[in-house]
Amino acid sequence: MAKYNEIKYGRTFMGRLKFGGDLLEELSASCEQNEIRLGSIGALGAVQKARVGFYNQQAREYEFLEIDKPMEITNLTGNVSLRDGKPMVHAHITLCDSKGNAFGGHLAPGTIIFACEFIVHSYDGPDYVRDYDEDTGLPLWLI
Ligand code: ZN
Repeated sequence: MAKYNEIKYGRTFMGRLKFGGDLLEELSASCEQNEIRLGSIGALGAVQKARVGFYNQQAREYEFLEIDKPMEITNLTGNVSLRDGKPMVHAHITLCDSKGNAFGGHLAPGTIIFACEFIVHSYDGPDYVRDYDEDTGLPLWLI
């Protein structure tokens, strides 16, 4: 059975990230600065290069793919919750190259911003704390 809570919209932040910054680090810093404990993230723009993860379900570990070329961010969808008492951004990204080929995965450090416009919605609700999940080996929400 699904586990969920009703949550209410809180604040909304809208802005752009700096050229040359690390996409995941910049999004995380924006959430930490604004003390966002629960939220959602959307973004678009372009990257100079990317690093994305794929969770190997059998080995229970992430495998990383580095794509060393300029690409468009066709979509970034993420959420914000708590891990070890701090806001943690979990985001997935879809990118495309000059031929329209798409790449995607779990956003990892090493994705470098060319330009990025983002929106973060914070929510008022119970804490969503991430901790080890036996079934998957992932840090999932304890709700
Ligand atoms: Zn993920």
